[in-house]
Amino acid sequence: MINAAGPWVDDIAALATAGRAKAHLRLVQGSHVVVRRKFEGAHAYIFQNGDGRIVFAIPYEDDFTLIGTTDRPFAGDRDAVAISGEERDYLCAAASAYFSEPVGPADVVSSYAGIRPLYEDNAASDATVTRDYVFAVDAPDGAPPLLSIFGGKITTYRRLAEHAMERLARHLAVPARPWTGDAPLPGGDFAGGFDAFLAEVRALWPWLPAATARRMARAYGTRIERVIGEARAPDGLGRDLGGGLSEAEVDYMRREEMAQTSEDVLWRRSKLGLHLPQEAHENVAASLAADFA
Ligand SMILES: Cc1cc2nc3c(=O)[nH]c(=O)nc-3n(C[C@H](O)[C@H](O)[C@H](O)COP(=O)(O)OP(=O)(O)OC[C@H]3O[C@@H](n4cnc5c(N)ncnc54)[C@H](O)[C@@H]3O)c2cc1C
Repeated sequence: MINAAGPWVDDIAALATAGRAKAHLRLVQGSHVVVRRKFEGAHAYIFQNGDGRIVFAIPYEDDFTLIGTTDRPFAGDRDAVAISGEERDYLCAAASAYFSEPVGPADVVSSYAGIRPLYEDNAASDATVTRDYVFAVDAPDGAPPLLSIFGGKITTYRRLAEHAMERLARHLAVPARPWTGDAPLPGGDFAGGFDAFLAEVRALWPWLPAATARRMARAYGTRIERVIGEARAPDGLGRDLGGGLSEAEVDYMRREEMAQTSEDVLWRRSKLGLHLPQEAHENVAASLAADFA
């Protein structure tokens, strides 16, 4: 069994090993703010902050700039993490020290926060505790092994998965040969780069508005076929729920990406929540409710 429960990994390890596993985590909150685009270009900025930390500003969703992040100890309810006023002010002040136009709390159009489940290496500061991943394997004689994953980054997910399989191969009668190095992620099986792929999308479905074609090609890659299905015209995608988001797209997210709520659709599976009018949020919720009814 693989225990990749992120901030909950210690709980699962303790449960599955009847208390043998000890706690390994340091929970550190990180928050971000989103403001209207602060600069032209595709580059990011990294600002050296007065407290020794760095803060970044990254182009985000075409029209916005993402500013992050914070590091602060977290001990609250893991289901209810949210940016604090203090974190928002910290990020605004850090960015204001560098941009010619200051960033104030009133400029913040959105924010999000998460909890880093860092492996406790007893570093003095939350900013310097290791971001590497660490495994713990519990394999009592004759029982199936439990591999718990502590820490890690999205950027190292594939290496992490290979290492996890290496560790488990010792316990299971399966050869663990890495095979994912050249394997495309779902929808990523197109050669020749994104621009060539987008040109194919435009040629196949010329009736899709240009901005929608680009957004969908970027979001779904070759899986755009599964979203569009047999549609031959815009009304084949069902109603426009607002801002070019069709019922067919929401249905795809529900069917293939396990979206259950409007937050899943608008914030977790996409970032459409930033762009669409309030009415679209209500329409998505109603469309999902009808599907689940
Ligand atoms: C603020 C912040 C900034 C970050 N910045 C970066 C960055 O810049 N670059 C980078 O590479 N990485 C970054 N990371 C790290 C990255 O987000 C994680 O490495 C990545 O999300 C880990 O993915 P995961 O699927 O292993 O775990 P998670 O995304 O933590 O998912 C764990 C899942 O397990 C589920 N779960 C828990 N308990 C149970 C249960 N009992 N049954 C079923 N499911 C359960 C949870 O609901 C959750 O969906 C950042 C993380 C945070 C919090």
